[in-house]
Amino acid sequence: MASLSDLPIRDDLRGQHPYGAPQQPVRYALNVNENTHPIPEGVARHIVESLARAVLTVNRYPDREFTELREELARYLGHEMTPEQIWAANGSNEIIQQTLQAFGGPGRSVLGFPPSYSMHPIIAAGTGTRWLMAERDADYAISPETAVAAIEAQRPDLVFFCAPNNPTGTPVALETIEAAYEASDGIVFVDEAYAEFMPAGAPSALTLLPGRERLLVSRTMSKAFAFAGARLGYLAADPAVTDALRLVRLPYHLSAFTQAASVAALQHAPEMLAMVDDIAGQRDRLLAELPKLGFRAFDSWANFVLFDGVDDPHATFLALLERDILIRDVGLPGALRVTAGTAAETSYFLEALAELGPGGAH
Ligand SMILES: *Cc1c(COP(=O)(O)O)cnc(C)c1O
Repeated sequence: MASLSDLPIRDDLRGQHPYGAPQQPVRYALNVNENTHPIPEGVARHIVESLARAVLTVNRYPDREFTELREELARYLGHEMTPEQIWAANGSNEIIQQTLQAFGGPGRSVLGFPPSYSMHPIIAAGTGTRWLMAERDADYAISPETAVAAIEAQRPDLVFFCAPNNPTGTPVALETIEAAYEASDGIVFVDEAYAEFMPAGAPSALTLLPGRERLLVSRTMSKAFAFAGARLGYLAADPAVTDALRLVRLPYHLSAFTQAASVAALQHAPEMLAMVDDIAGQRDRLLAELPKLGFRAFDSWANFVLFDGVDDPHATFLALLERDILIRDVGLPGALRVTAGTAAETSYFLEALAELGPGGAH
């Protein structure tokens, strides 16, 4: 068998590593920020009926403009959004990829603020877009001044924010996004994968869209919506942005099944989102309990918590895995990230971690 280095692969992909969050069959999977609650049975039934209808016409290509899905997504987002402002793809990862295909690519650059979503630099590499980085302030915040200074120093074609930020949970103030938009003449992309877990009343970057045609706000059904396996991400922006994305998307990129399942799920949005308050409650419990065990927990507006003070994160990761618990070693010194699950999952995790202690031993 040949190895990767035997292949005539693109020079800029040599030595790169693929996304590789472990996928292991464990009882307590708290590593990729999924919603750990199953979807309600009544909703599942409606989705299956929609899929059954869709299969009868699957000899035809699906609606290339996913019209009904865009209507449902616009309705769900509110903020007087129109379907013309909505774009969707197979997960927000594909949204990011299409954005970089249209606005990045060879000769162009994108600026990010690590630690942030690990896929941002990977998709930049895949699209040949140069990845630039800027430092955050204390406790992973990004002030307007910090963002503007980085943009003025590096002049990127795109700026990526993740709000709230994965893996730290840190919110990004709207003032920072506004200031970045003013300082840049490129695309400002706000990844709001965890928006539904923000405190009630906290404003989304969606409120900044009017009059800002270079601002893109992406969301996903993978997290709060308990729909990770269906692969549906979406974006809200000026309608001109969707025209740009039409130039790079593959025709019929959203299958008839993806469209049918997503439309049906969105028609039950309140039921699908019923567990969000519960999950935010478990996140708050993690924030309260982790310090009692001797760790420092970073304030989070998402469905996970980053904590540090771990002597050997990899050893603790492995010791938890032995107890059938999978969390995430995000590569930050002394830190680990855990997803807020059900009350029972959170209890099991906290008890196991209490037994291990900061040393990770017994
Ligand atoms: C989980 C996550 C996504 C979701 O990606 P999908 O492709 O929609 O499943 C996007 N952005 C961030 C920051 C995430 O953490």
